[in-house]
Amino acid sequence: MSEVSIITIGNEILSGRTLDTNADYIGQRLTEMGHSVRFRYTVGDNVRDIAFALKQALKSDVIITTGGLGPTKDDVTKQTIADVHGRKLILTNPIGTAPGIFVEEGKKLIFILPGVPREMKSIFENEVVPVLKKKLASYPLITVTFHTTGIPESQIQQLISEIEDIAFLPHYTGVDLRISRKTRKEIEEFRKFLKHRLGDAVYSEDSDTLEAVVGRLLKNKHLTIGVAESLTGGLVMHRISNVSGSSEYFLGGVVAYSNELKMTLLGVKEETLKRYGAVSKETAQEMVVGIKDVTGADIGISTTGIAGPTGGTRGKPVGLVYTTVSGESGIRCEKNLFNGDRLMIKEMSAQKALNMVRIYLLS
Ligand code: AMP
Ligand code: MG
Repeated sequence: MSEVSIITIGNEILSGRTLDTNADYIGQRLTEMGHSVRFRYTVGDNVRDIAFALKQALKSDVIITTGGLGPTKDDVTKQTIADVHGRKLILTNPIGTAPGIFVEEGKKLIFILPGVPREMKSIFENEVVPVLKKKLASYPLITVTFHTTGIPESQIQQLISEIEDIAFLPHYTGVDLRISRKTRKEIEEFRKFLKHRLGDAVYSEDSDTLEAVVGRLLKNKHLTIGVAESLTGGLVMHRISNVSGSSEYFLGGVVAYSNELKMTLLGVKEETLKRYGAVSKETAQEMVVGIKDVTGADIGISTTGIAGPTGGTRGKPVGLVYTTVSGESGIRCEKNLFNGDRLMIKEMSAQKALNMVRIYLLS
């Protein structure tokens, strides 16, 4: 596997005014092509620092630089490369003024590309890729991202501790796991391994969403769903209805934020609200019973909780959320204690409610 170093050049990148999208792009493309990106350097528009990065980068087989190639005075890359090597100009830039330069130094391949992302990409795809394909052996990898939810990162780490070449990508609604393998067979083996170790915590792969998975389960079982939301304010329904074709199973629902509407629209008893409060298992359950009655759906979901940052008490702190699902095999209600800001708590609640439907339908 060939090792690559990327050098991006420009004061504007160092100062953070321009995001280094060039390095991201090149890194992604080279990894897809089966090369190993070892180092990234970012330096300013001056000869000394460019030369320094170049000398470091020459430990790799392939060096790709971007930026500092324009006709302006601050563009000193060409001069610097010329100082470090003999050069020959064989790349062209059909859509801009800065040409690309290709230097072959013994077994090292050095590509000097312009900074303007559109021009960089054009030269990268049309000139650099063919040269790399011709000159280097590569081992294209298949990359899959597995999505999990409801299981902490530390626990996943323990359960699959022998796997080293895996990326953990934690979000507050779940942890993604990304692996790369040479063959489909190896991916399939890993998929089985993950299923064995993590069970139902893995809900989908790549661009497949939790709401799409829930939708497929409902469709396959010919079931409909209705939703009663309090603290999530419609987020659960938003996500369910984001799936194309959701009208086949999503009947609708209500956002019953006030106690009044919980009573009038969902039939939650005044006594229940008085005795246990709006954020309680009892209210959550009456909400789900109510939404099933109102919509006639096979499956009901409800959410009620305290999103904060105000409104928490010692007995009912911010982040206390009840998520409930109800269907043919009875009501399941969970008491959650989420940590985060208002939006995060809403998103975690919606995720939990959807995941409860998934688990309910799987069992
Ligand atoms: P240059 O080739 O250095 O004159 O760069 C031209 C323009 O391309 C700069 O003004 C930036 O807006 C953009 N640019 C340069 N380097 C990068 C980079 N690494 N990532 C994204 N944009 C860049
Ligand atoms: Mg520049």
